[in-house]
Amino acid sequence: MRNAMIVIFLGAPGTGKGTQAVRLAEMQSMLHISTGDLLRKEMAAGSSLGLQVKDIVTNGGLVSDDLINKIMQNGITPKVSYILDGYPRTVPQAEFLDTYLATIGEKVAHVIFFTVAEDIIMKRLTGRQKCSQCGKDFNSYFHPSTKGNVCDVCGAPLSQRADDREDVIKNRLITYERDTAPLLAYYTGKGLVRNVDGALPIDILLAQLNAIVKGG
Ligand code: AMP
Repeated sequence: MRNAMIVIFLGAPGTGKGTQAVRLAEMQSMLHISTGDLLRKEMAAGSSLGLQVKDIVTNGGLVSDDLINKIMQNGITPKVSYILDGYPRTVPQAEFLDTYLATIGEKVAHVIFFTVAEDIIMKRLTGRQKCSQCGKDFNSYFHPSTKGNVCDVCGAPLSQRADDREDVIKNRLITYERDTAPLLAYYTGKGLVRNVDGALPIDILLAQLNAIVKGG
């Protein structure tokens, strides 16, 4: 069995990190941690953490480094391979992660940097819809449900993420450029970055990601 491997998916919102992380994690028997999914679940459950982060997430800001670092420290265990999707998102988070991984005898193997043109990002995010029942993903521009605003598999209504509104998306992109884009220089300096084109067809990009991870 290969050693545990930590892979980070880095890139602006809407570059396809989540879609690919789910698929690659399954192919490579890795665990996928999406900090965004995790926070949305807490918000949906109305937990105290969910209530604490709701306004920030809904407005496209970033939850505090301390809070998110604690969540990740509890979530990452030794000898397990992970795809980290949406974490780290700031240089202090990346520094924390490096320090924490060193204490458990692990380190980041690859940082995969996803890029997509901004006009496509806007359509991917403003058009993004999910079936509220079976979870199937749709996009009103690129792959709409044949039944309009209900799921063409189970007939349940489609829902949109609260932060996929145009004004909030703009905030998320500003936040990304200001706080997260500097991570590219941080990880480039460590020789860890692999660039991928997030606009490629899903299966072609998945094959590229698979080759990167299989390469060790
Ligand atoms: P995502 O699903 O990755 O687009 O994340 C949705 C939202 O969750 C972000 O816009 C942030 O408000 C919050 N969030 C997710 N990951 C982090 C993180 N690593 N640090 C701070 N906030 C985060």
